[in-house]
Amino acid sequence: MFLGAPGAGKGTQAKQVAERGAATGAPIAHISTGDMLRAQVSAGTELGRQAKGFMDQGQLVPDAVIIAMVQQRIGEPDAKSGWILDGFPRTLPQAEALDESLGDSTPLSAVIYFAVPEAELVGRLTGRRTCAKCGAIWHVTNKPTKVAGVCDLDGGELTQRSDDREEAIRERLDVYRSQTEPLLSYYRNRELLREIDASRSPAVVFEELLKLMQ
Ligand code: AMP
Repeated sequence: MFLGAPGAGKGTQAKQVAERGAATGAPIAHISTGDMLRAQVSAGTELGRQAKGFMDQGQLVPDAVIIAMVQQRIGEPDAKSGWILDGFPRTLPQAEALDESLGDSTPLSAVIYFAVPEAELVGRLTGRRTCAKCGAIWHVTNKPTKVAGVCDLDGGELTQRSDDREEAIRERLDVYRSQTEPLLSYYRNRELLREIDASRSPAVVFEELLKLMQ
């Protein structure tokens, strides 16, 4: 499980770990509740319609919806060989529901906490851009594309997430502090928590992450 504030780099790293896993014959499913919700919003489903209001305001989607979604996802075939949870759990009830659904058969092997100072998070989120075609993540100053607004990988248009606006970011960080941060002690008490200094460059964080996961 990858735990940390919005903008800490959990999604970027999880994507890379999953790509490496696929390339080295050790597949691992990247389960991002944020990505799953955004897919529902794009597909115009009822769930997406309900979730969008919460997401755009930087608030959490209700626990019951998220828990059901994750329980179903970790039962899918590609998750049999292992998974990384990215962005879940975000509340204590979600963590408890996860414990219950995993039981003793597939215990969590580790919870990796991506530590980043708050001032750094805001800059990362406001500058973040995503390719509409392939989902690659860029940043206007930290990781710019060769041509502004165009993905280097496939020429797709770069978009800004609707919740990466200043007011929504403030709300997301507040929600993180009040609802998600208590999970650090929840997992520390279970001796599952490992901390990584995620304020460094993605390449350095990736190397350390691989060591930690091994
Ligand atoms: P993320 O991409 O992880 O930053 O998630 C984007 C948004 O999706 C969040 O701000 C929430 O509105 C919603 N979301 C994602 N994961 C969860 C979760 N585990 N619980 C509640 N809401 C979530």
